[in-house]
Amino acid sequence: MADAIEAHVMPTYARGDEVFVDGAGATVRDQDGNEFLDFLSGIAVTALGHAHPALTAALRDQVGRVTHLSNLFRHPYTADVAERLCAHAGMRKAFFTNSGAESIECALKIARKAMHVASHPERTSFVALEGGFHGRTMGALSLTHAAPYRAPFGPLLEVDWVPRDDVDALAAALRGARPAGLVLEPIQGEGGIHELSAPFLRAARALCDETGAVLIHDEVQSGCGRTGRFLAAQHAGVTPDVVALAKPLGAGVPMGACLASERLADVLQPGDHGTTFGGGPLACRAASVFLDELEGGLLEHVRARGAQLREGLEDIAAAAPAVREVRGRGLMLGVQLDRPANDAHCALYGRRLILNTPQRDVLRIVPPFVVTAAQVDEALAHIRAVLTALPAAPEAQPQTTP
Ligand code: PLP
Repeated sequence: MADAIEAHVMPTYARGDEVFVDGAGATVRDQDGNEFLDFLSGIAVTALGHAHPALTAALRDQVGRVTHLSNLFRHPYTADVAERLCAHAGMRKAFFTNSGAESIECALKIARKAMHVASHPERTSFVALEGGFHGRTMGALSLTHAAPYRAPFGPLLEVDWVPRDDVDALAAALRGARPAGLVLEPIQGEGGIHELSAPFLRAARALCDETGAVLIHDEVQSGCGRTGRFLAAQHAGVTPDVVALAKPLGAGVPMGACLASERLADVLQPGDHGTTFGGGPLACRAASVFLDELEGGLLEHVRARGAQLREGLEDIAAAAPAVREVRGRGLMLGVQLDRPANDAHCALYGRRLILNTPQRDVLRIVPPFVVTAAQVDEALAHIRAVLTALPAAPEAQPQTTP
């Protein structure tokens, strides 16, 4: 199987050898029957875990009815999901997509079209943050800070980069460059789980109001409840003009949304944008079940499990000298080490705990929202065992006498 993948699939990802065949809640099983604790959730996606009973029943039912129609026709779940998303996010209208990058592309087009409509067609550039990640399509890639991801693919969109939490630099960029929009993740995910400060988020809101730039929040990873509120920026009391969602929204079925505020809700008109698959009955049915669960008490559960996980990680940090910092919110947490995290990551995988390393020295912990208290304790026990056993960092080792 591994060889066939290497022979016929483009080598953009490195995969392990295990072949996963099924799962339940926060666990997945390989074909040899080995069970793993899944604290990565398919990169922050499977909010309801694997084989969630209500989702499974709804998808089975939907497949037996209609799976695809296109946006030329109506189905029962479009308005239901759009209305609930807008209510949760404080937005007015939704455009459905199939992925995070597509949600970002829609947001960028709204910002540019808004400038066009406002007789500022010269305002085409964007401001984005250092450490940010927004996807791999050309527009989203333009805003993704890591230079190696962008280098071979230029020319891209014009972007001015601003360091995280640097209000002065942000003010200079927005006032100087007069961009179409500012794009930021309230909690940077791929950048290593860095939460932007509430004062910075509020300053960004005020500066966009002052300069007319469209404020776009990328909540593809931090949104839909992962931090214990529907949007991470709600912890800071900030509402953007446009918000991009995806990952957990379809609970494993590809589904995203770009939501726009009242002012921008009708900027995109017929012909301006489109998608064949986006917002289909299968994906919207999945999102509808996800929202049922979220509204039925799952947000409180995320807060409780997030607090349990955070407390456990802080405890481990106090006992493990290799841990520099624990960051994040809710069930979106990162542990920064004083060294590359690969050895710890491999040791944890050996103990059948799945997580990953979005940055060289950071372990990312993004379990399903339905993770149980016992599973959090089990994961913490593995993390404690591995991190407290790491040898002292070379610079911290005692000098040997010559
Ligand atoms: N935005 C953020 C914050 C992300 O974390 C990601 C993916 O990790 C994306 C956008 C791109 O999403 P997708 O891979 O679904 O296109």
